[in-house]
Amino acid sequence: VRTIGVLTSGGDAPAMNAATRAVVRVGLERGLNVKGIRKGYNGLLNEDIIDLTSRHTADSISRGGTILFTARCDEFKTPEGQKRGAEVCREQGIDGLVVIGGDGSFQGAQRLAELGINTIGIPGTIDLDIACTEYTIGFDTAVNTAMEAIDKIRDTSTSHERCSIVEVMGRGAGYIALWCGMATGAEDILIPESFDGNMPKLEQQIIEHLLRNRALGKTHHMIINAEGVGHSYGMAKRIEAATGIETRATILGHMQRGGSPTAKDRVYASMMGAYAVDLLCAGKSNRIVGYQNGKFMDIDMDEGLAMEKHVDDYQLQIAHLLGK
Ligand code: ATP
Repeated sequence: VRTIGVLTSGGDAPAMNAATRAVVRVGLERGLNVKGIRKGYNGLLNEDIIDLTSRHTADSISRGGTILFTARCDEFKTPEGQKRGAEVCREQGIDGLVVIGGDGSFQGAQRLAELGINTIGIPGTIDLDIACTEYTIGFDTAVNTAMEAIDKIRDTSTSHERCSIVEVMGRGAGYIALWCGMATGAEDILIPESFDGNMPKLEQQIIEHLLRNRALGKTHHMIINAEGVGHSYGMAKRIEAATGIETRATILGHMQRGGSPTAKDRVYASMMGAYAVDLLCAGKSNRIVGYQNGKFMDIDMDEGLAMEKHVDDYQLQIAHLLGK
């Protein structure tokens, strides 16, 4: 490998910059040229590609967002788009590519690997929804950001003796909700993994829980709802109508994706960036960098993407027990 490229793709996540910085600095240290591809696979197809030096990543480790920008690119989902992507890599002399993104981005990387470009995926998503790794870049920061916001909502909610529903991100996965719920001592945690789609039944359980707690003298009731369950505003209206207890819904939204990354995210992302470069130097391709059982590791991309992720039953059980 002489020249490697790096891109960020899909939704942005705090500490993607730390990973990019490590790819650049370790790459240069290993004697490689490093090219930055801006705006994900769009930038690859449009040849929006720059030579990166250590200076390009200066002051980036503490910054949220991604200095390489990110985008979604439908053209890259087509075989023609993928062929063109591989051609651009060849024209630019890029013989190894690091893709920082979610599972969609990894599928793009798989296609490039099939077309002869060595690719390594780094899991960059706040959702923690990649099965082959216990850690994804940005999850820790997103959970901490949401936790601080929920603590603030709880203060005012307690003063007014309200019921609060706070909806957090996570797409189809409930990890952010589960962690935020445990970390803020929420009374109810709603996640798609344990939701059977029966909204009236779920709301009835919450209503009974809320009324039981009021009878015991509890002054507030915090419900953390995952994006994958959704319908927070309607839920608040129906709970208020059924109980007579003022109920407000807040959807935290994109604030969870921004902000300065936590130390954990910065360090893990740096390690993963370095690991990806060393895999390319060892001639590896079609691998995902992960973290399992206390160690950074790598796994075949096809195998990793075929795995299914499950919420830890014991954690879920304890979270519910603590909110009783
Ligand atoms: P997030 O978890 O933040 O959504 P993601 O990487 O899963 O991140 P996607 O929007 O699914 O986000 O994918 C990002 C980009 O990866 C797409 O816009 C597209 O360019 C490419 N991509 C996604 N799926 C495929 C696929 N099946 N084949 C080729 N490229 C793909």
